[in-house]
Parts: sequence; structure tokens; C-alpha cells
Amino acid sequence: MFNVKDFPSKNLQTKQKRVFRTIRLSLIPACNFSCVYCKTENSFNKKYLIRKPVFFINIIQNLKQYIQIQKIHLTGGEPTLYPYLAEIVQKLKELKIPEVSITTNGTLLKSKFNQLYFAGLDSINLSLDAVEDYVLKRMGTKKRFSFYEDIIQIIRNHNINLKINTTVLRGYNHHQILDLLEYFGKRKIVVRFLEYMKMGVSEKLHQERFFGQKEILELIQTKYTIFELPREPHSTSKYWITNEGYQFGIIANHSDPFCYDCDRLRIDSNGNLYGCITQKQGIPFSEKNSEEILNKLLQYKQNFFVGSNNFMYELGG
Ligand code: SAM
Ligand code: SF4
Repeated sequence: MFNVKDFPSKNLQTKQKRVFRTIRLSLIPACNFSCVYCKTENSFNKKYLIRKPVFFINIIQNLKQYIQIQKIHLTGGEPTLYPYLAEIVQKLKELKIPEVSITTNGTLLKSKFNQLYFAGLDSINLSLDAVEDYVLKRMGTKKRFSFYEDIIQIIRNHNINLKINTTVLRGYNHHQILDLLEYFGKRKIVVRFLEYMKMGVSEKLHQERFFGQKEILELIQTKYTIFELPREPHSTSKYWITNEGYQFGIIANHSDPFCYDCDRLRIDSNGNLYGCITQKQGIPFSEKNSEEILNKLLQYKQNFFVGSNNFMYELGG
């Protein structure tokens, strides 16, 4: 647990009371998958640097003077491809970050799991778009569903918080929503359905493949009676529960935006800072001017998500 004294006495905020509390840190802009909504043939061919943990830890340590950091999500690209993942988790826990989590496609999790567990990882968001193998393949996944079942068992045996992220595309996997809900509901695991965001390469496909919150709820209600749960402040998801006790969430960036109280600050794998996922260019971190930069970044926060040319694998979702 954390102490109040570990937090800075001030937390930067705008007149509209916008603050940063959650950091999404993209460790590496590379990935071993080709999810249809995220990647193009050429999009991962760029050269990139792999930064050592000290590079990111210095940034976090500095930002801690101005931000009450509650949570750091490590993401990518694919964060399990980052060679020092466990080391960075351990260092963040040493800095007393209350919650350190990863968002991952899961492929390399088995081999890295013990290291991550002992480093103090708090939670895992596992991206999984279907229960049927042919649909997984169509979404760009290289693994079969049985592979995920094994990982999920390992995670659960270790009492690490687990959520499933499913990005929903009309005609690709929307018909898997009920199966996913039943499979995970029975196992008391929360599945979150993500609206397909108009980001980078996904823009062209977006119009024809978008399957929004309203349609997701209508589909679920063909089989289940559902109740909406109170929304946690700053949460990207709204949650519902079925009569059977199956809990699920929807992240509705487009149709039900949560931008008005978004508390995320994003850092890419080169140490550029983004106040909003739609910000055109990141601002390079600078130790001398970090307070000024953070104030500027708060001004970039939007009230609605309108799409962006940024790539998801660079900003990490
Ligand atoms: N590679 C990791 C993974 O897939 O979990 C982390 C990076 S990925 C960019 C983070 C999350 O963003 C994943 O859950 C993925 O499904 C989601 N995502 C990627 N592109 C998206 C899009 N265009 N719309 C909505 N979600 C998207
Ligand atoms: Fe890779 Fe994640 Fe993008 Fe899929 S969503 S291509 S796993 S970065």
C-alpha cells in the first residue's frame, strides 16, 4: 500500500479541474501480431531504439514531483517484447506506484510470468478478441484460444487482477460477444468490449466496421437482462452486470466519450509526452521544464474523441 506522504503536496490541475493521475507508458513500438485494427504491412518496419529502464524511471521520478500517480499501465506495441519488462515493474513498485499493470497480447507472458509476478505486477489486461480459432486468426492473432486458456489459468492461480480487452469489429468478431461474455462471466472474469477507435491506419476500415456501445448492449440484451453499475470517476469503462452475475464493461470512446474526466498522461518509447491520444506530436520530456510541459499537456485534453492519425501501437491504446 502507499502512504499519503509518498505523494507530492500539489497535483497540477487546470481551471476545469483536469489532472493527470494515470500514466500509459509505451515501452516499445514493435509487435509480433498484426491485429487488423492496429497495424498495416509497413507500420512496424520503422527503426526504433530500445531504452534502458533508467531512461523511463528518471522520467517517472521527475513527474512524481507534480503528479499524484495512482497507476502506470505498461504497454507497447507489445510490452512483453521489451527485454527489461520485469526490471521496470520492480523499479516502479520500488517508487511506490500503487498499481502497475500491463496490457498485452499474451504471447510471451508464459515465459515471463514468474519474473513479472515476483517483480510485483498488480494487474494484467489481456487482449483477446474471440473464442473461436478461425475468428482469432481473422483478427490477426497468431495463437489459438486454448493458448489463452492456459495463460488465464496461470494468472488466476497467482491472484493477479485480470481483465479481458476485446476490440469489436462488425463482421469480424461482433458475433463472438455473447460467447465471450458467457465464457468469462462463468469464470468471474470481467471482459471489456472496446469500440473500434478511428486511429492511424484503422481510419479507412472504421466507417464500415464500427460496432458501437448501443449495438453491443442490444446484442447482449437478446440473451441477458442487464443492470448498469455506477461509473468510477476517471474510468474509461462503464460496467454492467447480468442477472447471472456476469460483469462486463464497454469502452465507448466514440459513442459515449469519457474525455471530460480522463486523467491519462501518455509517454511513448522515446520519452515524448502526450496529454491526449489525439495530440498530433509528443513533447520531449525535459527535466528542467517538466512542470511547464505538464501544464501545457493538460491544455491538450479534449472533451470528445474525434479520431487521430496517431498509431495505437506507438501510444499503447
Ligand atoms: N500489444 C498489446 C495488446 O494488444 O494488448 C498492447 C498495445 S495495444 C495498442 C493496446 C490495446 O489497444 C489492445 O487491447 C488493443 O486491442 C487495443 N486497440 C488497438 N487498436 C485499436 C483500435 N483501433 N480501436 C480500439 N482498440 C484498439
Ligand atoms: Fe500488436 Fe497490440 Fe496492435 Fe495487436 S493491438 S497489433 S497485439 S500492438
